[in-house]
Order: sequence, then C-alpha cells, then structure tokens
Amino acid sequence: MSWQNWSGNVRCPRSRIERPSDVNALAKLIHAHRGSGALRALGSGHSFVPFWADGDTLLDLSALSGLQAVADGVARFSAGTPLHAIGPMLAPHDLALVNMGDIDRQTLAGAVATGTHGTGRGLGSLSSAVEALELVDGSGRIHRVDADGALDAARVGLGLLGVMTAIEIRVIPAYGLLERNQRESVEHCLEQFDSRLEQHRHHEFWWVPKLDVCISKTLDSIAMPEEPRLDELPFGAEGERWGASWQVFPSVRDLKFNEMEYAIPATAGLDCFRAVRRCMLEQFPKLFWPVEYRILAGDAGWLSPTAGGEVATVSIHLAAEEDPTALFAAVEPILRDHGGRPHWGKRHTLARADLEALYPRLADFLALRREWDPDDRFLTGYLAELFL
Ligand SMILES: Cc1cc2nc3c(=O)[nH]c(=O)nc-3n(C[C@H](O)[C@H](O)[C@H](O)COP(=O)(O)OP(=O)(O)OC[C@H]3O[C@@H](n4cnc5c(N)ncnc54)[C@H](O)[C@@H]3O)c2cc1C
Repeated sequence: MSWQNWSGNVRCPRSRIERPSDVNALAKLIHAHRGSGALRALGSGHSFVPFWADGDTLLDLSALSGLQAVADGVARFSAGTPLHAIGPMLAPHDLALVNMGDIDRQTLAGAVATGTHGTGRGLGSLSSAVEALELVDGSGRIHRVDADGALDAARVGLGLLGVMTAIEIRVIPAYGLLERNQRESVEHCLEQFDSRLEQHRHHEFWWVPKLDVCISKTLDSIAMPEEPRLDELPFGAEGERWGASWQVFPSVRDLKFNEMEYAIPATAGLDCFRAVRRCMLEQFPKLFWPVEYRILAGDAGWLSPTAGGEVATVSIHLAAEEDPTALFAAVEPILRDHGGRPHWGKRHTLARADLEALYPRLADFLALRREWDPDDRFLTGYLAELFL
C-alpha cells in the first residue's frame, strides 16, 4: 500500500504497512522480522527527511493511542497518540503540556523522537519533558527507560534504539493563552526581542524576505477563558485570539512546504539571523516564504539538537512544489558557521563525520544502538549513512 509524507518528498509505493494491535503484537512482529528492508515506525509523516525508504516495512502505530494514566504531574500516553488529542484528554484532569510547537498534527512519539519544540525562554522541547518511556528494541524485548537508565540517549532517539510504545511526560496545571501578532520593521522586532522574551511566556518572530518585515508573536498565560476566541489568524495578519493552551498553540498549515532548521547557541542567534537575512535579501529577494526564529531552553538529550544551554532555532521554508536545493545550500553554511545543529525531522546535508564533531556522546549512542538493535532492523538507508 502506498504511503507518502506530509510534504510529498518521501514516497513508499511498494512498502508493506503493518498495524500491530498492541505492545505484544509489536514485539512479536519485530522479533520475527527477516525482510530485506528495515522496519520503521510511522508517526504522522510530518518529517521532511527520508527516514522511510520504499521497500522498508512501515509500522502504523495508530492502535497505540490514548491516555493510560496520570499521577504526580506525569501523564502516560500510548506513543502513537496524536498531539491534537492530548489537550482534550488532559483537560478533564485540569492539566496541560508545558509547551507545544506550531502545529498539533504530529504523533507524540514522532515529535519526541526528533526533538520537536515550540518557543519560550526556560521552556524546553517536548522530549525534554519526558520522564520515562517504554520501547521495544530490535530483538523484540520491551524496556522501560527512565532517568536511572538510558533516558537521555532515548529521548531523542530517531527510532534507532527501538519503537516507543508509551511515553510518560511532565504536565502542569491547565492554563489559558492569549496570542498577539503584530507586523513591524525588522529593526524594531530585533531591538525588542530580548525584552519581549523576558515579558512573555512565549515569543517568536517570522521574517518575510519579499517584504522585509517581521511578524512578531507573543503568547501569555491567562486564566482559562469562558469564551475562547479561536479564529485562525491568517499568516501575516495582526490580531489576537485566546483559549485553552492546546487550542491556541497550533496553527493551521494548509500550504505544503519543505523546511530546514538549525538550533544555534542563543548567544549567536540574532547574529546568525542577520547573516541569513543578508544572504536571502541578496540571493532570494522575491521569496515570500518566511524565516522563523524561536528560543528554547537546552536539554540533556545525547542526540538532541538543543542539548546544552539556551538555543535559538532558525527555520527556512519553501513551497513543496519548488526545488529547495539552491535556497538551503545558500543558508545552511551560515547556520553551521554559527555553531548550529540540524533539526532531525528537517532537511540538512550533514554527514557522519559532522555528527561526531557536534554530538560528544555519539559514540555512546552508537554502542547502545548496536546493543539494542544488533541486527540493524531499524536502520533504514538514510539513517545507516549517519549512524552505522
Ligand atoms: C507543517 C509542519 C509544522 C511543523 N512544526 C514544527 C514545530 O513547530 N517545531 C518542531 O520542532 N518541528 C516542527 N515540525 C517537524 C515535526 O514536528 C517533526 O518532523 C516530527 O518528527 C513529526 O512528527 P510525526 O508524528 O509526523 O513523526 P514522523 O515524521 O512520522 O516520524 C519522525 C521519526 O520518528 C520515528 N517514530 C515515529 N513513531 C515512533 C515510535 N513510536 N517509536 C520510535 N520512533 C518513532 C519515525 O520512524 C521517524 O524516524 C513541523 C513539521 C510540519 C510538516
């Protein structure tokens, strides 16, 4: 059965799709796998890189969905739960996720596996809030991984250590959010950036090359509103909306695109953005697709692009039907020169040797990968080039 990712740049017309009904069925399936291709979990296909190759066996984990338990500020979800289902499931418990990214169409496992994040000073990625997880390794063994074990290796694991079946994530009391978007000059936006980061729970901006203007966005905690106003603000429009946090965080993304994103040490973030802007004004002045700039707290994941101290993320987009090679090739060296590490779900051209310089715990991760997946069942072609 044919499968393709969200942006349509990865297609697997001849892959078999397996739909295990529960953890034990999954473990049996992995243990028995003898095919020529690899075994690879499907989230909701919102990554832009070829994690999956045609001929691999794809694992649809939609049967592993739902809230399993909540206790002591930690919620345990089946790993295939879509992010958009999490808010409504936590609401009756008066709880919510600490932070979310731009959309909520991903699965929890897919988002955690790649280090997916939102923005906000002192707020980390979704994977940084994971307290424990359950996964089935390449021999079909079920592991519970927590802080006493290999959690920092597994929290951003790209599915290389095993297929996650449950994720325990830190949650906080439910909160409302007020979103404000305004259009302003680049100079004003950059001047205000640091003070807005301090003043607001979340702050980010989008820069549109063709207009050379910024759309700045702030989100502030408010009491849970009785009358939410959730009309989608079209991209670039000024305005406000409010509601429960999980209703306000996500935007609708109707237009398909491909994306490159790097996490830069925050101290170099705005310099990096300025260099990207100079490059794009010179080489791609007519581009309407924006550059997004966010800030988030560092974390301890061995393969986390946001490992270490505070980082800024710079994201470049281009319509899915256009070839992004020239744009990404022009910008990527700037992101790398500023100490950047790529988002694992987005486009980059790093090779194995580059990873060694960027990830000090890479050798430890590779040793664990060999132990937990000795027959390389989860190692698809793309990942083999980086991690074999
Ligand atoms: C419109 C759009 C908006 C986005 N916004 C943001 C954003 O705001 N912030 C951000 O950081 N990123 C963002 N992304 C990137 C996206 O969050 C990541 O690529 C994420 O991994 C996608 O989740 P998914 O469920 O679609 O996973 P997939 O893309 O389907 O899978 C990602 C990886 O996780 C693995 N995987 C999936 N399930 C499991 C499992 N159960 N166990 C082990 N491995 C598993 C897959 O095999 C694959 O290697 C966006 C992408 C799009 C298309």
